[in-house]
Amino acid sequence: RRARALAGSSGQGSTRDGHRVALLANIGTVDDALNAAKFDLEGSGLFRSEFLFLGRDEAPTVEEQTDTYTKVLNAFGKDRHVVVRTLDAGADKPLKFANQEHEDNPALGVRGLRLGMRRVDLLDTQLQALANAYKATGGDLWVMAPMVSTVDEAEWFATKARSYGLPKVGVMVEVPAAAIRSAQILSVVDFCSIGTNDLSQYTMAADRLNGELANLLTPWQPAVLHMIKAACDGGAATGKHVGVCGEAGGDPLMALVLAGLGVQSLSMAPTKVNAVRAALRLHDFSTCQQMAAYALDARTAEDARKAVIALADPTL
Ligand code: PEP
Ligand code: MG
Repeated sequence: RRARALAGSSGQGSTRDGHRVALLANIGTVDDALNAAKFDLEGSGLFRSEFLFLGRDEAPTVEEQTDTYTKVLNAFGKDRHVVVRTLDAGADKPLKFANQEHEDNPALGVRGLRLGMRRVDLLDTQLQALANAYKATGGDLWVMAPMVSTVDEAEWFATKARSYGLPKVGVMVEVPAAAIRSAQILSVVDFCSIGTNDLSQYTMAADRLNGELANLLTPWQPAVLHMIKAACDGGAATGKHVGVCGEAGGDPLMALVLAGLGVQSLSMAPTKVNAVRAALRLHDFSTCQQMAAYALDARTAEDARKAVIALADPTL
């Protein structure tokens, strides 16, 4: 049965009873985009644009960035959307041309949009290039900012991105402050995307690069699930789209929980899409909701996972 479920896996993501969950690819380069576009998936939920910037002496020019974004949008055509994340650099991914000060706690420092708000020239160039690529291709472009903590930051970014004529503007939810205040944040943007990698790190106060802390860093931690729920509740209250673009979305079992919490799209490595689609197709939405409720109530990460396995189709 498992083989049949996997073989029959194609088309849009949805639960057995037709509740839609869009399945998307995480990409970082034009080659990634061309590769992902060959897969049976509905677009890209995360283009990590920092790959264009890292390891260089100068920032890429507006022409160079326009060329890259145009190629990425063309790879997916007009019918599949692409979410481009603006530069997510920080003191741990330093940029030679950003003149950043040394920081003792770079994960808590000037990174993501915090850098964009201080080096507005870098953000302006990027938004201009995105606007150029949007006009040139007519693609379904969504733009979002990383590491947003407050409504003010979200509003600042949205105002700036919209001033370039970008049609769909959002933010990542990777900081507990943003998850807890998602309804307020979503009232000033068009969508949000939960970055479960950083949201786990910041919820559990555990460095995501420290393998020693892996048991704290799993999104199965009920505290992390409660943060994701808070973000989804903000989406439900405002009618705005809430997606996930962290690694959690690529785990078929966790994907069921995320769907049950109200996540509307899952972005992952393209090779993971078939297994996630098959898992969703095996379960009704009400089962996913039940799984989410059990996982939220579990005492431990291990208990949360076990509770979900107990409810899952045995072929999964
Ligand atoms: C995340 O934090 O979950 C995320 C998708 O962003 P990155 O892994 O690039 O920090
Ligand atoms: Mg992140």
